[in-house]
Order: sequence, then structure tokens, then C-alpha cells
Amino acid sequence: MGIFNFYDFGQSRRKVLLGAHMSISGGVANALLAGKYLDCTAIQMFTKSSNQWKAKPLSEDDITGFRLLQRQSGIMTVAHDSYLINLGSPDKALLDKSRKAFLEEMERCEKLEIPYLVTHPGSHVGVGEEIGLHTIVESLNWLYTKTPDSKVIICLETTAGQGSNLGYKFEQIAFLIDESEESDRLGVCLDTCHIFAAGYEIRNKKAYNKTMTEFDRVIGLNRLKVVHINDSKKDLGSKVDRHEHIGKGFIGIEPFGYFLNDRRLKKLPFLLETPKGDDGEMDDINLGILRGLIKK
Ligand code: FE
Ligand code: FE
Ligand code: ZN
Repeated sequence: MGIFNFYDFGQSRRKVLLGAHMSISGGVANALLAGKYLDCTAIQMFTKSSNQWKAKPLSEDDITGFRLLQRQSGIMTVAHDSYLINLGSPDKALLDKSRKAFLEEMERCEKLEIPYLVTHPGSHVGVGEEIGLHTIVESLNWLYTKTPDSKVIICLETTAGQGSNLGYKFEQIAFLIDESEESDRLGVCLDTCHIFAAGYEIRNKKAYNKTMTEFDRVIGLNRLKVVHINDSKKDLGSKVDRHEHIGKGFIGIEPFGYFLNDRRLKKLPFLLETPKGDDGEMDDINLGILRGLIKK
């Protein structure tokens, strides 16, 4: 046995699902090994290279190795889709390519027993928000019909609203959930940097509660499945998506404690997407800060 301890969370703090986005370079299982190394209880990963359309199929060894390690480590795993995919594209060829690529990513998650696939809903690229949102709904409907037996939950991520990105208002996320045909197959990922850059204040307890009440009213907290924990290089409402180390940006340290100790969010995975530094040393530092905020 040796290297993997079952349920070894090592701390007297209550168990919080906390970790970071991890690289799959050298094989998908390496993301879990990196997570284990940094005492993560949850990780996020791509299931293929995030900046290429083509993906080498997962081998049987990849799949069995990953599943085994996932079970042994007890690390909860979340996938993020490729940045090339735009389920709201007005360009027919690109839309078609995006849908097929996303379908493939759903299939990879299924094989790896990853329950959540996080995606930025899409960009309208100039044709307007209305049309963009409808295109995304059609994309989701197409994906449902292609994967009738899939257990993978598509988690729509709140965005900063950079460029023509959609999903920067809770109402837009709610629209996609309400209008698509099998909404039980959808969840939501809240990114702290993104909602802040989109204009939702979270820097004091009162503002945090107001934002979360708004989220609950418009989307529903029962939809929330994943939280991305990032500080922001840019200020409130800047609509610029630039992640910063915890406490080094415009959000500061304290607000992350609101999220981590919010009883309504207690079973959710909290995942860093901040610059990693050499050998994940920055992850170690950022995770240390976050762990320190967790109340026993
Ligand atoms: Fe994202
Ligand atoms: Fe994110
Ligand atoms: Zn971001």
C-alpha cells in the first residue's frame, strides 16, 4: 500500500473540499498525484490539452489508473473544458466543431468518472447577447440528445463578461437553465474573480450576503456545484478576467472566509485557478491561507 492513505485529511478542521486546478501533463492521473502531494481534497483538471481541438483517446490504462487513484485518494475531481470551445458561436463551422469537442469532453468525463464538467457558457462574438444565449441553449439541447445516459453534470461558469463572453449576469445563467430542455443536467460554477469583475461586490459580509441572496433568488443555490477561489487583478466591475494570488488582488483575504465558512456551501469543492509557481509552491501558499480561514 504505502503512498496513498485512505481518508487521510490530516487536520482537525472539518473536512472541506479544497484544492486547485492541476496539470495532466504526462497523463491524467498526474493531476490526482499533484493534488495528493499538496493535501488537496478536491482538484480540477482538463481531460485533454486545453488549447488543442484534437485529443488522443484515453487508453484503458489511463482510465483504470485514474479511477483507482481517485477512489484510493478520496479526492473529488472536477473537469474544465477546453478554452477553444464556444457553444454560442455565430460561425456555423466553429459552432459545430465546438459542440462535437464538448461532446467528446463529456465522454471523457464519463469514462474517468468525473461528475462535473465546468464550461464558460459561450461568446456571441458580435451578434448580440440575445442570439448568443439562444445558440448556447440549442447547443445544450443538442448535447443532451447525444448523451441520453450520461451522468455528467454540465456546470455553467459565471464569467467576468470580458469581450463578448456571456454568463456575467446571474440572469444569463438562469436563462440557460430555464430555456434548455433537460435542466437537471446543469449545475453552476461560481468563480469569485469573475463575479467580482462582473460587478458583484463580495468584500464585506453584508455585500457578500446580498450577492449570495441574489444568486439564490435568480439561479438557486441548489444549482451551485463548484466554486472557483481566485483573487482578482482588476477592480470591481472591470469586466476583465485576470486571476491573482489570494490576498494579493482587489478582493483581499477575508472574503474567501465568507465562502469557505458559508454553511450553504459546505459540501462544495473550492478550487484555486491562480498562477502556480515552481513545483506548485504558490498553490501551497494559497491553500495555506485558505485553510487558515476555515473555522473548526
Ligand atoms: Fe473557467
Ligand atoms: Fe474559473
Ligand atoms: Zn477566469
